[in-house]
Amino acid sequence: MSYLMNTYARQPVTFAKGEGVWLWDEDGKKYLDAVAGVAVNSLGHAHPRLAQAVCEQAKTLIHTSNLYQIAKQEALAEKLCGLADMDKAFICNSGAEANEAAIKLARMYGHGKGIDTPTIIVMEKSFHGRTMATLTATGNRKVQAGFEPLLGGFVRVPYNDVNAVAHIAEHNKNIVAILVEPVQGEGGVQISSAGYLRGLRSLCDAHGWLLMLDEVQTGIGRTGTWFAFQQAGIVPDVMALAKGLGGGFPIGACLARGAAAEVFKPGNHGSTFGGNPLACAAALATLTAVDELGLCRNAAEIGDYIRTSLSAQLDGVAGVVQVRNAGLMVGIELNKPCAELVRRALEQGLLINVTADSVVRLLPPLIMNRDEAGQLVTLLSKLIKEFLAG
Ligand SMILES: *Cc1c(COP(=O)(O)O)cnc(C)c1O
Repeated sequence: MSYLMNTYARQPVTFAKGEGVWLWDEDGKKYLDAVAGVAVNSLGHAHPRLAQAVCEQAKTLIHTSNLYQIAKQEALAEKLCGLADMDKAFICNSGAEANEAAIKLARMYGHGKGIDTPTIIVMEKSFHGRTMATLTATGNRKVQAGFEPLLGGFVRVPYNDVNAVAHIAEHNKNIVAILVEPVQGEGGVQISSAGYLRGLRSLCDAHGWLLMLDEVQTGIGRTGTWFAFQQAGIVPDVMALAKGLGGGFPIGACLARGAAAEVFKPGNHGSTFGGNPLACAAALATLTAVDELGLCRNAAEIGDYIRTSLSAQLDGVAGVVQVRNAGLMVGIELNKPCAELVRRALEQGLLINVTADSVVRLLPPLIMNRDEAGQLVTLLSKLIKEFLAG
């Protein structure tokens, strides 16, 4: 019996401590963590730099209010804008809030252009969060069911299909923005093709729309560069960040550039907790560590190593559809539902995730080294072979 609302079907394990890519449960059993709190623990567990930054800030000042200046929030916004080639940041507490800010920004941008029913193009199989606006934007009926009426002002097209978006441009004059993930995480590690973001960028430029990237999962080094869009050679107008940004401390950000950065005025949007000194200290320490430890490059190298090693191990195994990765977002697509693998892996001391029913998803900490990646591949390829054989 639990006093918690029944929102998660939780695995029967409670972790007591962690270090690096390892976790220990209450009985002292050790686990290799290839989930990282769903792409959150960028620096792994109990990283000394993050622990020290949080401790020092907690002993100095945890929270004031956005009614006042917050030096660490200013510093974080400057750092993020510098890394992403953006102009302004709004700091919040989660991915859903970052996307919610982007959606509100796009609507206000549209009204500023005289569009009374601003409409945002969103994708099939996308995931943007659990608030009413972000679950409406999400392309998964399971996330929406039971919460109708959904919001208006969204149109949906297939992912990775520039023509579908171009088609809408011809007949819908209410479009103000596109909201899209560079790689769909919850959707099953679906990696968009090289020209996709460039195609969307061109359409946005031609029609005066905002290109809004949901980099909540892909951002902060996860795909091998600070942000996934950098591999496409474009810059978005708006970008949502969260997950890996605080290394485990809850924080999100909505960044914007150009006209989009000037949309909000005092009173338009806000957050009680957003960007408090403690959260910003955690994010600043995380960004500094990702930078100084070369974790973007490490994510690219270790991610490719995991994909090539897994591909070799699973070569010719019936039931393996594809092994794919964008840095340390790795997906192993099987030809049947495989949620069962999560429990089997747990028994073997390995934490993995399954998404889109039949895709094993790996999101290890960005600090994972080659030896640890090798252990992951050995354990997981054995589990997958047994699962598909049985
Ligand atoms: C996790 C995720 C979200 C939601 O983030 P929360 O912090 O859970 O609100 C939004 N978009 C993407 C792409 C995500 O992966």
